[in-house]
Amino acid sequence: MGVLELAEKLVAYRLAGNDRALKALEMLGSGRSPSSVYRRLGMHPRTVRHYMNTAQRCIGVGMRPALDRLLVKVVRAVVETVEPAAEVLEGGRARCRLCGRVFKRMNLGFMHRHIMYTHYDQVEQLARKVLEVVKSGGDQGRGS
Ligand SMILES: [Zn+2]
Repeated sequence: MGVLELAEKLVAYRLAGNDRALKALEMLGSGRSPSSVYRRLGMHPRTVRHYMNTAQRCIGVGMRPALDRLLVKVVRAVVETVEPAAEVLEGGRARCRLCGRVFKRMNLGFMHRHIMYTHYDQVEQLARKVLEVVKSGGDQGRGS
C-alpha cells in the first residue's frame, strides 16, 4: 500500500459520487476527531472509522503530521482533477457516465464496486494524474 493506492481509492469515491467520504477524510487529515467528523457529516461512526482505516493502511495517516497533510493534499487534488461519473436520474436511478449503463437505483457502494471492477484502468490513470497535481502543488509550496 502507498500513496498511489490511496489516490486510487479516493478517485473511485469521487467517480462513484461519494464526496462525503472525501470530506470526511479531509476533515480527519486536518486534525478533526472521528467523533466530530461523524457528528458534523451525519455519518455512522463505523463508516468514518472505515475511511480512516483505509487511509491508515495506505499511508499511515494519524502517525505523522506530514502524512495527514499528504492526505488532505490528495483529497483536494482528486476533487480538482476528477469529475464524478455517477449521475442521478429521475426516479432515483443512476447512470455511469463512463460507460452509459443505467442502474435501477443510486447506491454508493454498488457504484463504487462498478467503478473499481469495470473502470479500473481509468481509476489508475486518474490516480497517477492526481499524484502529479499533488507533486506540482508541493513544489510550489516549497518554492515560495
Ligand atoms: Zn460504468
